[in-house]
Amino acid sequence: MRVVFPPNSRFRQLGDDFWQEVDTTPLANPTLIDLNPSGAALLGLQEDDLSPDRWRELLNGQLYFGGQTPMASCYGGHQFGFWAGRLGDGRAHILGERNGYECQLKGSGQTRYSRMGDGRAVLRSTLREYLISEYMHALGIPTTRSLGLVGSDEPVYRETVETGAMMIRLSPSFIRFGTFEYYDVPGKQEQLARLLNFVLVEYYPECDGDHRVRDFFESVSRKTATLMAQWMAYGFCHGVMNTDNMSILGLTIDYGPYGFLEEYNPAHVCNHSDHEGRYSYENQPAVALWNLQRLATALHDHLSVEDVHAWLQSEFMTQYRDHLRELMHARFGLPNTEAAARTIEQAFEWMAHQVDHNRFLYALSQDGNLDPTLHVPHTLVERVTAWLVDYYRIRQEGDPLASQTLMQAKNPKYVLKNWIAQTAIDRCLNSDDSGFVAQLRRVLQAPFDEHPDMEPYAQNTPEWGRHLVVSCSS
Ligand code: AMP
Ligand code: MG
Repeated sequence: MRVVFPPNSRFRQLGDDFWQEVDTTPLANPTLIDLNPSGAALLGLQEDDLSPDRWRELLNGQLYFGGQTPMASCYGGHQFGFWAGRLGDGRAHILGERNGYECQLKGSGQTRYSRMGDGRAVLRSTLREYLISEYMHALGIPTTRSLGLVGSDEPVYRETVETGAMMIRLSPSFIRFGTFEYYDVPGKQEQLARLLNFVLVEYYPECDGDHRVRDFFESVSRKTATLMAQWMAYGFCHGVMNTDNMSILGLTIDYGPYGFLEEYNPAHVCNHSDHEGRYSYENQPAVALWNLQRLATALHDHLSVEDVHAWLQSEFMTQYRDHLRELMHARFGLPNTEAAARTIEQAFEWMAHQVDHNRFLYALSQDGNLDPTLHVPHTLVERVTAWLVDYYRIRQEGDPLASQTLMQAKNPKYVLKNWIAQTAIDRCLNSDDSGFVAQLRRVLQAPFDEHPDMEPYAQNTPEWGRHLVVSCSS
């Protein structure tokens, strides 16, 4: 069946102040590593709507949507606290939009915005982004999604020689806080107003009253606070929370050196290049607030920055904490009471540096079938056993059956740890074993379910995988 892609994307309508039309540069000898049927379904497509060869061509930038030249988008951003000027898609192309999703190819060659970069992405980071996008979605955490990826034998030079890869990611929009910041300079206020109007009309149509810009800003802020609560509840560290990596839709975007906490350690820094620990796990909500302040400042012509900054100071952390509390009470299966909150707080005290909270909570959610104390060191067993007595008493005060159902929907058996992503990378690189990627992707898309063949990936991190280093290099 021949699929006709619509010839346009909403983003194109913004005008060429916002993008460069530029051809992709396909990789030599591409191989289709995986096509994600759930990603295709978002576009209203089925896997067999295109032959494997056509999918491979699409994912390798050889087949454009509707025959239009792709676009690289322009944006700026604060990187590690400092204004970095113009950034933009230096290695990505928007191919077009279908079914409300923009299709962006990443790793697809140089653009006007490449600066000193080669326009490429390596297989290692592409596969990591491909897998985590589907995993976050399965956890219920807003994120860009994955359509598929290709590998190649084309050398790409990073710290060592790696190979190039490309993936298509999907999102209603890839507009970032940094897109607004870029146009906040004298002479570009007309473009900024155009961008603002576009985002309001297309993505925030509910904000249409007299205070529509302020309503829009508060909505972005609420979505971001919710997102931070979700990241924190699951021990997710993004690693590079620059303002160019903050989605205007409140999605997790631009996965790089991300990671999940192994032992609960609030000061954990997952990005080896982040020497100051600016983007440590515990700093993430405060950084999100700082990033929202940058967005508010860029909107100074359209709202009172002073008022908004005051509103952010009083509201953002409250919204974040309320949502986090709700999530943690659900994960622990406890009613949202003060006594339960104290019990959860105590748990995080003994967990610190010693216990993987995701594994412990999964065991706890299996009520009786798994002993949660198996996941704590010997020295803690007595303390945790006493804690469990208290815990079960408080749980009885709520509705234990309902709470178990909720717990099982909130506590995944499988967590995408670095060692698991690394296993997929190694198998892909060493043996052309791309079937494993599909198998792992299916597990990550249903992480609450049993997957008997993949049981080892629900177990403890093996020794070799405990201290993997992940950096900005990608
Ligand atoms: P990231 O750290 O991936 O969010 O990228 C930050 C900025 O650097 C974005 O503007 C990217 O497009 C650009 N960039 C990163 N890597 C490359 C590369 N290899 N070639 C060109 N641009 C790149
Ligand atoms: Mg980025």
